[in-house]
Amino acid sequence: MNVFRTDKKFEKFEDVSPEILKKEGVKLLLCDLDNTLRLHSEKEPTDELIKWIKECHKAGIKIVIVSNNGRKKMMQKFCEPINVPCVWWAKKPLSTKLTEAMDEYHFMPEETVMLGDKYSTDVLAAKFAKIRAWKVEHRRDLVKNEEE
Ligand SMILES: [Mg+2]
Repeated sequence: MNVFRTDKKFEKFEDVSPEILKKEGVKLLLCDLDNTLRLHSEKEPTDELIKWIKECHKAGIKIVIVSNNGRKKMMQKFCEPINVPCVWWAKKPLSTKLTEAMDEYHFMPEETVMLGDKYSTDVLAAKFAKIRAWKVEHRRDLVKNEEE
């Protein structure tokens, strides 16, 4: 088994539509934060992120942010207005916090996906938790390309 093999690849989180999530039987979406849902420099949720979260919630999909970022206050401030629970200092690739989130919100591994930009943390943690790993491009690269 290749531990870095992703189950699906997307350019950006906006491409992970509620339709795809429903079709794939995803009920719990664990999301990395930095360079997946936001640029590291973004202090507040963007309009794109707010819209995407709302659409996912409307489709009945639970989103939990699972980040290695250790700045608890910043994370809480970022996640509160978008109504998304967050886990900070998750220590991915350890799968502990992914498994805890499934337990806490009562979802099975087969209903759960980890979405992130990094092989060595997000993808690997998903493998250890025995859930699907979906990968987006590193968000900084996307913005750079758009500016060029
Ligand atoms: Mg990241």
